[in-house]
Amino acid sequence: MQEKLASAIRTVPDFPKPGIQFKDITPLLADPSLLRHAVNLLADEWKDQGITKVLAIESRGFILGAMLADELDAGFVPVRKEGKLPFTTIKESYDLEYGKDTIEMHIDALSASDRVLIHDDVIATGGTAAATHRLTEFAGASVAGFSFLIELSFLNGRDQLPTGTPLHSLLSY
Ligand code: AMP
Repeated sequence: MQEKLASAIRTVPDFPKPGIQFKDITPLLADPSLLRHAVNLLADEWKDQGITKVLAIESRGFILGAMLADELDAGFVPVRKEGKLPFTTIKESYDLEYGKDTIEMHIDALSASDRVLIHDDVIATGGTAAATHRLTEFAGASVAGFSFLIELSFLNGRDQLPTGTPLHSLLSY
């Protein structure tokens, strides 16, 4: 089944720019049994761990993140690029290859009692997930772990994340 999941991820060369091997998850999303299976496997890792919120990263992270939240009986919190959320936000910036990017979360999205699972479809360099972790701690909540459908392990993104915080990825390249 792991192989079936992997074969439903399409690698698109040179998207969105030359040199990037883009992992396109839309064939997996379009297959009902594979989609269900992927969500079950992602959720199995975090069952009975008292997760109260799944924080997912714009925009592909929202798809499986919302399904994961439902499966874990947790709430869903969107983390978005700057300027997209309507209410008062807290922000965190992180370095890109050239320049910086900023993510935001609503100021009242988390409370100190929340145990948070951070989800994205892909971890590449780890910068986005690390910034999301800082945002969560700034909000006073605790991070139970990181969940990714795909880990691009050759980019060593997990080295950017705090050691000791559990990380689960379903497929690794
Ligand atoms: P990161 O470099 O870990 O901060 O990744 C930034 C964001 O870009 C993540 O939300 C990923 O979804 C996306 N991303 C980075 N590299 C790829 C890739 N090769 N294929 C698909 N998405 C990617």
